[in-house]
Amino acid sequence: MQERIKAILQMEPSPEPIRAEGWVRTKRDSKNVSFLEINDGSCLKGLQAVVDKEKFDQSLLDSIGTGASVVAEGPIVASQGGSQKTEMQVEKLTLVGACPQDYPLQKKRHTVEFLREKAYLRPRTNLFGAIARVRNTMAYAVHSFFQENGFIYVNTPLISASDCEGAGAQFQVTTLDLNNVPKTEDGKVDYSKDFFGKMANLTVSGQLEGETYATAMKDIYTFGPTFRAENSNTARHLAEFWMIEPEMAFCTLEGDMECAEKFLKYIFSAVLEKNEEDMEFFSKFVLDGVVDTLRHVIESPFEHMTYTDAIKVLEPNNDRFEFPVKWGVEIQSEHERFLTEEIAKRPVIVTDYPKDIKAFYMKLNEDGKTVRAMDVLAPRLGEIIGGSEREYRYDVLVSRLKELGMNPEDYWWYLDLRKYGTVPHAGFGLGFERAVQYVTGVANIRDVIPYPRYVKSCEF
Ligand code: ATP
Ligand code: MN
Repeated sequence: MQERIKAILQMEPSPEPIRAEGWVRTKRDSKNVSFLEINDGSCLKGLQAVVDKEKFDQSLLDSIGTGASVVAEGPIVASQGGSQKTEMQVEKLTLVGACPQDYPLQKKRHTVEFLREKAYLRPRTNLFGAIARVRNTMAYAVHSFFQENGFIYVNTPLISASDCEGAGAQFQVTTLDLNNVPKTEDGKVDYSKDFFGKMANLTVSGQLEGETYATAMKDIYTFGPTFRAENSNTARHLAEFWMIEPEMAFCTLEGDMECAEKFLKYIFSAVLEKNEEDMEFFSKFVLDGVVDTLRHVIESPFEHMTYTDAIKVLEPNNDRFEFPVKWGVEIQSEHERFLTEEIAKRPVIVTDYPKDIKAFYMKLNEDGKTVRAMDVLAPRLGEIIGGSEREYRYDVLVSRLKELGMNPEDYWWYLDLRKYGTVPHAGFGLGFERAVQYVTGVANIRDVIPYPRYVKSCEF
């Protein structure tokens, strides 16, 4: 019988031989036996495989070191040692792939910076193994949450010719010869010669297309890659990240906020339930108290605050901020952290932002100055969700576009949704990596995605 090591570690001792496949994390020798710790990524702990030196060729044992891939077979017995309940009494041992001494992951603690340069090997470390498992749980929970609530999963395009509000700088997609770019008579790039016959980009959000499905199927969600040519070197921005974007028809901002809060609590709970050992690891080695914080977040209702009230709270503290606030300015990460960490001590949903700092498609409030936007702010990170009720009134949307100097014709199909059976609808976007960061306590977003892409970095 062959099992993942996670399952083997849960077995009771039994004479029936079990087969374990994995990579050697450590080898310790005593006089008569060798102890191999074999890990296969299924859980944090490895299987202790006890090899009786008398029964095996010394040369085989010598050739098995840290990093080698092996197959070990034998019964599971009660362990003599203290740190594990059971171990394998090895009867058969096969070296599949040897691992020479220059293996970069020697038994010591490496910095995350070092491991980023070895990103192709880092899933073999405790930290990155745990992150990968938690990420997996969260991805599965994203789908479970929406599927259990009747949402339809929609795949919106990654290559797009519609600029979603300038949500972020875009990466251009082209097959034009960059050494010999075709030009029009007035000297501009002639995109009619390009692959799509017009300028195209990698998507910064699937929202606009998501809305087209929501206004047919009521509740939908997307979960896919998103690209932003963010020129900022921060610990919370990537050039390629994964975003979850639900969109709900017959729904206003209240329903949107309720969904966001339930959704976050659902995925956080899934991790606490399924990744207990990994979470203990994060609490111990990454961020003290991260498990308790999550539990607290799950149990308490999120704080709600309008933008105007948030400014009232922030303004008297302006001397503490690099960027002092006043009504009308963007709330930046330092302010978001102040609101969540100092004032509310839990996640905060800020609503009704000034229209001038939010996107064109957000529903205008009666005051004519603010829009039905909501951002969910989390302690440590700031914004993790951005959402809004969408402007569903045709005339208001057209005048907003014009007010912003945009051409309504470019949004013809989006406007048609407001012409044919328009309906109040709302949605939000959660940056998946920010959520993983929040759950694990990992400080830098580059460490919660397998291969981070950011300015001047596209390795592996
Ligand atoms: P921020 O102000 O933090 O840059 P944003 O206002 O540009 O975020 P939105 O356009 O509202 O973000 O995108 C929705 C969500 O996507 C954000 O709340 C965040 O969780 C995530 N997100 C946005 N940009 C990035 C990025 N460059 N890398 C990772 N996640 C991102
Ligand atoms: Mn941004």
